[in-house]
Amino acid sequence: MSAVMITRKVRKWEKLPGKNTFCCDGRVMMARQKGVFYLTLFLIVGTCALFFAFECPYLALHLSPAIPVFAALLFLFVMAMLLRTSFSDPGVLPRALPEEATFIEMEIEAANGNVPAGQRPPPRIRNVQINNQIVKLKYCYTCKIFRPPRASHCSICDNCVDRFDHHCPWVGNCVGKRNYRYFYLFTLSLSLLTIYIFTFDIVHVVMRSVDNGFLNTLKQTPGTVLEVLVCFFTLWSVVGLTGFHTYLISLNQTTNEDIKGSWSGKNRVQNPYSHKNIIKNCCEVLCGPTYPSVLDRRGLMQEDSAVSAAGAAPPSSSSSSSNPEPQTTKTTAPLIPNEHTPDEAKPGVPVPAEKSPSPKEEPHEKLPPLASPETDAEASIAKDKSH
Ligand SMILES: [Zn+2]
Ligand SMILES: [Zn+2]
Repeated sequence: MSAVMITRKVRKWEKLPGKNTFCCDGRVMMARQKGVFYLTLFLIVGTCALFFAFECPYLALHLSPAIPVFAALLFLFVMAMLLRTSFSDPGVLPRALPEEATFIEMEIEAANGNVPAGQRPPPRIRNVQINNQIVKLKYCYTCKIFRPPRASHCSICDNCVDRFDHHCPWVGNCVGKRNYRYFYLFTLSLSLLTIYIFTFDIVHVVMRSVDNGFLNTLKQTPGTVLEVLVCFFTLWSVVGLTGFHTYLISLNQTTNEDIKGSWSGKNRVQNPYSHKNIIKNCCEVLCGPTYPSVLDRRGLMQEDSAVSAAGAAPPSSSSSSSNPEPQTTKTTAPLIPNEHTPDEAKPGVPVPAEKSPSPKEEPHEKLPPLASPETDAEASIAKDKSH
């Protein structure tokens, strides 16, 4: 039986290996688990709808028409920041192509030499020096790359994410290099909105109670009780979270680094990213350059499928002798833009190998101070091994 190869063009997002969902032909990218994200949407939209239905008409009439206008503007800003955080690429690093992965494995084996049977091989770490700091690039066993500094592998999305902060189920996405500032603006504006609604709920109840009595007011506007409850419980968590991220931004630190204690405790390593100036740190994190996505999700690639010529079988049900896998894909343009040295390693610093196919894009190295947390190297690798 003979077979013919059919080549068709597909978008690259269709072949990305992480645990993401895509909408609008790859324009929208999220984590697969979205239940909590829908709850976030429901709580924000629901509470605001109740506020506009029960309080705004009374407050606009008796206090100021600016109250609902400002609430509407704030609500729109919160939603824009939420959707921008949730629907964007957080800074996912592409995995190594098979031939690149083979090359890097060969390099590691050559550098490590023969490890006697029963002995644990040395951890896969590369030391580079950037801005007078020794930086450890850790190997990701899933993505087959040496991660750029500050990157980490998200086990939920199954991707390495650049400047990984944390995975946030409330926004249904990782928070990383490309969406951190929008995440922060979301928490900040949501704090303001919650305080705003909570305050005017109280004002509304007080004003009505003067005329009608407290119990009658609650009967007339049953939504108010629900709003006050939701706002009260949201207030503590969201305002607390905003305060925590304000503190992190002022130190130019990520949640991941804070949890690991990368720049404190036993390591006694100073944060090399910090400018030692709160204003400069805030400017860099919130107003620094925006980075393009390196995934090229909407780029086209060719997919070769073997189809049996005798029967009109679907591509996945047959294969040619030269192509044992039913769905073999061949990229015409690699997913990784280019490969280059991961470091501007200075002489005298031990670097096991000279070259790495780490898909690090240029902006990493332009970031002024670069270093990697020294903690958890073993733990991280052990975790990665479990993939
Ligand atoms: Zn990874
Ligand atoms: Zn994630």
